[in-house]
Amino acid sequence: MRSRARQSAVRHAVQAFVAALALVASGARADGAVKVVTSTQDLAAIVEEIGGDRVSVESLARGYQDPHLVEPKPSFILKLHGADLLVVVGRELEAGWLPRLVQQSRNARIQPGASGYLDASQNARILDIPTGEITRAMGDVHPLGNPHYWLDPDNGRRMAQAVRDRLSQLSPGDSGTFARRYADFDRRLADAEKRWDARMAPYRGTEIVTYHRSWSNFAERFGLQVVGFVEPKPGIPPSPAHTLALTQDMKRRAVPIIVVEPYFDLRTPNALARATGAGVLVLTPSVGGVKEAGTYIALFDYNIGLLVDALQQAGAR
Ligand SMILES: [Zn+2]
Repeated sequence: MRSRARQSAVRHAVQAFVAALALVASGARADGAVKVVTSTQDLAAIVEEIGGDRVSVESLARGYQDPHLVEPKPSFILKLHGADLLVVVGRELEAGWLPRLVQQSRNARIQPGASGYLDASQNARILDIPTGEITRAMGDVHPLGNPHYWLDPDNGRRMAQAVRDRLSQLSPGDSGTFARRYADFDRRLADAEKRWDARMAPYRGTEIVTYHRSWSNFAERFGLQVVGFVEPKPGIPPSPAHTLALTQDMKRRAVPIIVVEPYFDLRTPNALARATGAGVLVLTPSVGGVKEAGTYIALFDYNIGLLVDALQQAGAR
């Protein structure tokens, strides 16, 4: 009897070990959490809101990096290899660095078109979709529209819905949890939007200049007007001729603020500020760009706080 019990215990241990190996081989974790990799920290923050402890999530890019120009690392391929789900911003934001890594990951689950590949832009409101022919002379224009769409909180909501639906498809047993967590996020976001709208209301219609075309959705949502860019064309560095024309236009309009992303050189914005009397304001377009912007909602709290202070100081009303 004793040796039979021991044999049975050994058999169970072997079975458990084989089952664990099968789980590892299939990419699923023993605890059942979905392994998610995202291209940016904004997406990771939204996946965390919806997934909670039912997911593990890692972002490839850091929030302080230019998401167009992320340096690929070998560790990225390893992360992609083990992922159940890859979430991307899409609209060609990551076109310069991510597609090749996805290919190299040799992970069939996360290839475009597979159930483990989610383009978060699918249901988002996309601006700046070019009409007519696109030529090289237009600079780094995105034919699929402006990829910086996550800076409209309603797009954050739509992205969260897409994440909820895809996670529920991949892990049906957790769909109740994902639905509940989405409802909670939606409520907190709606409360925050009331707060942001109230703070931004006095500045409706204010004209600003931004370095890159990162703030189209943000400006539209909060009633600002972007009347010029420090870049002569998207992705093209400032040129003397463009800077001179922009200086004259900013003076004529009395533009109070130049918004700059943290990864751009401040020399041209500072020169524009000296010439026009505008202020330079560094805002962070992504979660994780600064430590205060640790969640999707905190990202807006941080930027709107800085923006309102700067507009108040500039006396823009
Ligand atoms: Zn861009």
